[in-house]
Amino acid sequence: MAYLVLARKWRPQTFADVVGQEPVVRTLRNGLARNRVAHAMIFSGVRGVGKTTLARIMAKALNCTGETEDKPCNVCESCREITAGNAVDLQEIDGASNRGIQEIRELKENIRFFPTKCRFKVIIIDEVHMLTTEAFNALLKTLEEPPEHVYFMFATTELHKVPITILSRCQRYELKRVSFVDLVAFFAKIAAREQVEISRRAIEMIAREADGSIRDGLSLLDQIFSFGGQRVTDEDVVQVLGLVDQQIFAHLARSLLAGDLAQCFDLLEKTYVAGIDLKRFATDLLAYLRALLICRTSPRPEALLEVSDQELAELRQLSGGHSPETLSMLFQLLFKGMSEMQYSAHPRLVLEMAFIKAVQAGQVTPAAALLARLDEMIKAGGGPQALPTAAPAAKEPEKPAVAAPQKPPAPPLPGGKTTIVPETPALADAEPELDSKVKKLEALVEKIAEPKNREKKGDGLASQTHAKDVRKNWDSFVAYVKERKPWMAQVLKLCENPREEEGKLLIRFDNPSDCTLLQGPEHVKDLSVYVLDFFQKDLRVRISGRADKAGEQGEAVLDGPKEERRALANDPLVQITVDVFGGQVGAIRTGPRFR
Ligand SMILES: [Zn+2]
Repeated sequence: MAYLVLARKWRPQTFADVVGQEPVVRTLRNGLARNRVAHAMIFSGVRGVGKTTLARIMAKALNCTGETEDKPCNVCESCREITAGNAVDLQEIDGASNRGIQEIRELKENIRFFPTKCRFKVIIIDEVHMLTTEAFNALLKTLEEPPEHVYFMFATTELHKVPITILSRCQRYELKRVSFVDLVAFFAKIAAREQVEISRRAIEMIAREADGSIRDGLSLLDQIFSFGGQRVTDEDVVQVLGLVDQQIFAHLARSLLAGDLAQCFDLLEKTYVAGIDLKRFATDLLAYLRALLICRTSPRPEALLEVSDQELAELRQLSGGHSPETLSMLFQLLFKGMSEMQYSAHPRLVLEMAFIKAVQAGQVTPAAALLARLDEMIKAGGGPQALPTAAPAAKEPEKPAVAAPQKPPAPPLPGGKTTIVPETPALADAEPELDSKVKKLEALVEKIAEPKNREKKGDGLASQTHAKDVRKNWDSFVAYVKERKPWMAQVLKLCENPREEEGKLLIRFDNPSDCTLLQGPEHVKDLSVYVLDFFQKDLRVRISGRADKAGEQGEAVLDGPKEERRALANDPLVQITVDVFGGQVGAIRTGPRFR
């Protein structure tokens, strides 16, 4: 016997067999019971949800001569003929290939005659939206006054393409996408009847892939059953469907959120080597990130997601550790990457770029939370003195002794002692990453407050007393450097007449080649640190050879705006802004404000 594909073998023959269309089925049954069935009806919905199947069941029910109350009986001659596809009075037309006026004229000619065997003639036109305007117009007349012995049943995936004049003459039935839960249950039943051993997880993968369409799901089952035989493994399903195991997405999302770029690249490499289509991969990854975001923000994520209970628990666990803002940022960046991939000849590079951006963006803390925190600190008279209290308090947010969550912070005490209201436990639970951000912020506030405090406390004087004169102490400085970097001390010994000038330490060499090595940026940086530590002065180190004296002039001029820009980028206020809004410093432009 020829192999019958599952979609045909298991096509529902009664209303009770129909999967996932309860409201429509109930209405149709009621109409039959009360003898109130319209002579024209239209079934709409995405492909494979059972539009023509329902039309056929309806045709059987209308013509059923069985004794049962629940029609169709499926045993009377009429029912059997229709099931077998031999009923002369049931005409099925494919609207896509019979779309002209000529076909409709023939049809009209045909329905003038009474049915040969059945009670009614039933005309099913599939993809009815494909008919031409002339064909629709020709049909319209018939629909206005349909003969008593004829029923029209239309099916369409694109209801909006059917003229309103036609729609207004039909009873409309909108079929829904079949739910994930219904699909899983149905496919599991088919597998059991076909005596195929297959895991729940594999069935779920197929149901997810079917995306609401029973027919699509059944053809996938067909493929998988013929691939795996009576025992289908999860790997079979992954392979046949060209799917990526959901675990990879969980792993990848976790790595992105943890900022582990190496791991992300590694996972991408594995996917690439496995020959998986990267655009498809990115789409699936995005679906996973969407699931995370929904889990984090929706009170009932299960209503919006096609996931099993176990997957839902995993999604909850992962999303719970991050702010909605972080998840949303990740989603947006990946979405942008995916859109760019569609037009790129190098999808892998684009995806990698998206990973880099996502990792750089890191964790996002809601601006409102940070600003509120900043307000608190300012109100509390937040200065450097307050910070030591704040740090331990933030570490132990549960401690009730210091917690004063809802109240405004206490005013500064006369003795200059201030306290900072610690993180409220609830907030700390919700935003675990907030702590470190706040600490950073506190450090920045301290930085801003620093210069003023120094003046007040007379720190400037203190630093003067600790500061050492460059010329007098040069030899001790070289000795100091020698303990840390012997070669650098050797080079420094060669310089002539080092001197301090307008906040700069000028180190000149007779022979330019003597200082080439020392001029390397990382060495200049080290040297600057030694200078600061030893002389207790914040001096900019300038190294030059005699030959490029003229060049040094030029260098100094060039250095000006560069330094200015660097200072701008490092400005505490700019850094706070960057932190608060989770951004990066891009191009810095100085000069006349209005050009
Ligand atoms: Zn029957």
